[in-house]
Amino acid sequence: MLFKNIIGHKGIKEKLVNSVKNNRISHAMLFLGKGGTGKLSLAIAYAQYVSCLNKTDDDDSCGTCKSCRKYNKLIHPDLHFVYPVVRSKKFKKPISSDYIKKWREFVLKDKYHDYNDWLSFIGTDNLQGSIYSQESQEIIRKLSLKTYEAEYKVMIIWMAEKMNVSASNKLLKMIEEPPSKTLFILVVENEEQILTTIRSRIQLMKINRLTENDIKLELENQFPNIDKSVIKDSARIANGSFTVAKKNIEQIQNSDFSDASTKNFDLFTNLMRLAYSAKIIKLVEWVNEICKFGREQEKAFFQYSLRMIRENFILNTALDKKDEITFLSRKEFEFSEKFCIFINKNNVINLYEEFSKAQADIERNAYDKIVFLDLALKTAQLLRIKN
Ligand SMILES: [Zn+2]
Repeated sequence: MLFKNIIGHKGIKEKLVNSVKNNRISHAMLFLGKGGTGKLSLAIAYAQYVSCLNKTDDDDSCGTCKSCRKYNKLIHPDLHFVYPVVRSKKFKKPISSDYIKKWREFVLKDKYHDYNDWLSFIGTDNLQGSIYSQESQEIIRKLSLKTYEAEYKVMIIWMAEKMNVSASNKLLKMIEEPPSKTLFILVVENEEQILTTIRSRIQLMKINRLTENDIKLELENQFPNIDKSVIKDSARIANGSFTVAKKNIEQIQNSDFSDASTKNFDLFTNLMRLAYSAKIIKLVEWVNEICKFGREQEKAFFQYSLRMIRENFILNTALDKKDEITFLSRKEFEFSEKFCIFINKNNVINLYEEFSKAQADIERNAYDKIVFLDLALKTAQLLRIKN
């Protein structure tokens, strides 16, 4: 992983490079930021840079030396990973190494990652992952090995907030009395879930959300055949996360109709108009229409609607600052500018809950016509509640 292949984060990259140049490599660092911003890739690029035998003049790894070639495949013997795993029949006391092949595949297929993607990648959508206590023995074992080839041993702990308490306490001990020439990098989304004692002994690197423009450039790179306006809109609504933007595009690509977001837009705006004017017969027709499209489209509709409800509420509360705070496409904005007054502090939570509940019902394969009719009628009631 080279710095130059990761979008944005100029300041952080400079800091990291300088720490190596000035010989001030910290033995424990915390990369903190939202999912889909490239934290893990930055951590790997940093480790690769530390270990590269032929660093370039423009502050990057060479990509071709003996060390880099192993880093390119994530098989360097002094690079270790820890990440959440799940219990299964095959792995009753799982540790990261049990999933290492899958892990390499997952990390190498894209530079941006989020936690749910990892769980679905290892086929465990319904289970919760964890970094179990047995992992700490494994960390101690790996770090007590002599370095094979590099000056530093690197231990990257991804989603370190998923460490259970006993693993966290053992890790704390290691951070307090670090084995020499060892570099711990904790990659974290939720700072408050990390032991404060760990937090206070570790150097913080705050990874910002990506800018709209950075996301746009990377989308254009990964999806050269997608319409430019779709790319622009996806970057705009992603709120700084590349994985969110990418999912939006994939959803459009994978749907039966090439205009999935238009479809969701039509379904959502029709529902809101009919619900507000309480046209019951028309609402029943709307239910029949959405149920024709199948489960995948139904699920996509909920994701879309939840976002629209949220954005309309924000727009309503701060119409004067509309350009700064909303993440809406142009077409969505034209609708929302008039509609947003109906989503207010007295009904937004209930609306959000009703849509989330219906979404969960659809995911559990409940009968869709009943779920949607119920949702349509509740929406009609809730939209009548005034600010
Ligand atoms: Zn190199």
